[in-house]
Amino acid sequence: MNNTTEMYDVVIVGAGASGLLCALECARTQKKVLVLEKAPLPGRKILVSGNGRCNFTNRYVSPEKYRADSTFIHSLLKRFSFEDCLAYFDKLGMLYTEEAQGRVFPLTNKATAVTDVLKAALAETHATLLCNQEVVRVKKGRFFTVFTQNGQSFLTKNVVLACGSCAYPQVSGSQRGYELAKSLGHTIIQPRPALSGLVLKENFSRLTGIRAYVRLSADVTPSAQAEGEIIFTNYGINGPAALNISAAVSRALDNGNVSVHICFLPQLTDAENFFSQRMKRFFHRKPKDFFAGLLHESITNLLIDFKGLRKNKSMGEQSPTAVKQTFETVVNWPGTVTSLRGWNEAMIAIGGVNLREINYNTLESRCCPHLFITGELLDADGISGGFNLHFAWASGFCAAQAITKE
Ligand SMILES: Cc1cc2nc3c(=O)[nH]c(=O)nc-3n(C[C@H](O)[C@H](O)[C@H](O)COP(=O)(O)OP(=O)(O)OC[C@H]3O[C@@H](n4cnc5c(N)ncnc54)[C@H](O)[C@@H]3O)c2cc1C
Repeated sequence: MNNTTEMYDVVIVGAGASGLLCALECARTQKKVLVLEKAPLPGRKILVSGNGRCNFTNRYVSPEKYRADSTFIHSLLKRFSFEDCLAYFDKLGMLYTEEAQGRVFPLTNKATAVTDVLKAALAETHATLLCNQEVVRVKKGRFFTVFTQNGQSFLTKNVVLACGSCAYPQVSGSQRGYELAKSLGHTIIQPRPALSGLVLKENFSRLTGIRAYVRLSADVTPSAQAEGEIIFTNYGINGPAALNISAAVSRALDNGNVSVHICFLPQLTDAENFFSQRMKRFFHRKPKDFFAGLLHESITNLLIDFKGLRKNKSMGEQSPTAVKQTFETVVNWPGTVTSLRGWNEAMIAIGGVNLREINYNTLESRCCPHLFITGELLDADGISGGFNLHFAWASGFCAAQAITKE
């Protein structure tokens, strides 16, 4: 079937977070809007986000939470702030609740609340959403012709590439967005997995399943550090702190393994003094009892073996060097990241369309007028906590503002 006799104001490629919000905003004005989605359902990644609960924004959205030109993020957040995001979903009819660290979730605790209100609002407009329509080519002439895999084509004045990244291929992630952007003149910064577990050379499998609140840092430039929970796994570490340094580690892995340091007592301001005082009080205790109340028992056992402390001797009877090294290790346990868990576990991709080729105010391509690029397809990424979805909404919103002003 060929639909090129009908002219759309905008064809949006991808009904994910940024595409749906962009479509909704474009359709609020009398623009003729078509959304093409390759999957049978829209918003599949939204549905798996936040463990199915969808952490859709964060009170602390600010340029520092992103790895992208801060002028760009600042420009987006000025027009679609945290408060704007809450007001937006409120207007769509969704209640929400704020949890620790400013993370916001739907009150129903289900990501379906987010996709349902977006779908319902879109259905109330005159926009057309077609699923099972993978866009395989976009041709630029006087207008754009958008071709889908099943042989359809659509004529449009504007195109929005809202295809997302290649992360999580089991739920809609694909390379197609990069290919389409490239075919229209863009350069792609090589995508790499991020917000994914860190594979360590050292064997921590004895600690599998154990959680610890730590400060985790990586020897990378610029420095990367996160305080929060880690979860030991059979391959290394996962959990919020590991995820939040994973993007920086992912970039640095190109130059070889990356050293990381785990501080198990991030609350301490002067660890040396703390341990010297503790030695005065508890020098008579055996190592296991000395660390009781400080560390998880399994971490203590690994520490004792790692540093060669004698289990049946008191701390006062151990070699002073071994004691000193043990205390240092508690606040600076070394690890070596050899890789990140792959695309099937990475929540996002870093890299993507080069931001230098994008107009920061409009999200319009500088290579191809009337082409707009939004969301994770761009080379911008946030830490975990609702920042990536906020970026997707904000970029979709700003692109729609530019399109509807035309
Ligand atoms: C497991 C997991 C958990 C996450 N949890 C959170 C969280 O709690 N909070 C948070 O902020 N972020 C989270 N994220 C990240 C967040 O989901 C993404 O950053 C966000 O969805 C990106 O929005 P987008 O619009 O760019 O792309 P997507 O939401 O990925 O949408 C892109 C859409 O385009 C479609 N598409 C692609 N190519 C084509 C084509 N050629 N033709 C037609 N359609 C196409 C896809 O099928 C998809 O529906 C999570 C991600 C994952 C994988």
